[in-house]
Amino acid sequence: MTITFSETQKNRLTDLGWKDRLVTEEFETAEQREKAYKKIEKAAIAKNRERLLRLIGETHQPQLCNLEQNLSACLREQGFTQVTTPSIISKVFLERMSLDEAHPLNRQVFWLDQKTCLRPMLAPNLYAVSRQIMNFAQTPLKIFEIGSCFRKESEGKLHLKEFTMLNLVEWGTPMEERLERLKELADIVLRAVPIRDYYLEEEFSQIYGDALDIVSREGIELASTSMGPHPLDSAWKISCSWVGIGFGLERLLVCREEDEGIHRYSKSISFLDGARLNIK
Ligand code: ATP
Ligand code: MG
Repeated sequence: MTITFSETQKNRLTDLGWKDRLVTEEFETAEQREKAYKKIEKAAIAKNRERLLRLIGETHQPQLCNLEQNLSACLREQGFTQVTTPSIISKVFLERMSLDEAHPLNRQVFWLDQKTCLRPMLAPNLYAVSRQIMNFAQTPLKIFEIGSCFRKESEGKLHLKEFTMLNLVEWGTPMEERLERLKELADIVLRAVPIRDYYLEEEFSQIYGDALDIVSREGIELASTSMGPHPLDSAWKISCSWVGIGFGLERLLVCREEDEGIHRYSKSISFLDGARLNIK
């Protein structure tokens, strides 16, 4: 009878970012397995150390921060204005997004008290700020924010409790140009990442109804798009046509780096810039 790596061993090696042969490797004895494990762990630790030393000695900035900066610069070049709004939002704002107590997404919200929560999305603040800007500026109006969002998720390889959303919106896109413009904006952002291989897929959104998702070659949802006029708009006193896209920055990174675990690129005290920190 042969044995494979134990679950603890597999988990440790997965944490260290080791992707090769973990599941299929077989051994005759526990001793042989131990020896093989030690060898792989040592090599994996060396790789992680190398990455961390490159960060400390050369790049000085995690890819998440770097991507955020690059995408911000890219959108500003396209005439988009960046805004920055609070992570704590009111229950009223969620209700205006149709996210009342009966809504399935409501169970994913981190409530701070009866009236406030950590934002699960950027859209409500973007609606609010844009409404105010429209009082003194004309459409077309291009706005974006990059910031943390929070959702209770049964965590897996693609879901974080705190993740970084890039949400852009263009108010006043002519009705007949919306689809083309969405494709163009998706292309501008993904080229800046860069991610070249992706496709659009029709998807039902619990907030926006029928919508288009942007999906990577591996089938990972990178972003969701939406268009207006939309029934939600009237709650924010907005009546023009528009297009919007929400990207998850950590998803863009796992996809670009052809990695498996989104946690490696997240805001974390266990991982830093794609590397495991506990490598003693
Ligand atoms: P999924 O169906 O994959 O759970 P979603 O459709 O609920 O995602 P959206 O509300 O469309 O997510 O959010 C826009 C983008 O934000 C997603 O396309 C994804 O890239 C990213 N995103 C959403 N939830 C998470 C999460 N928990 N962790 C990391 N990224 C996320
Ligand atoms: Mg989505």
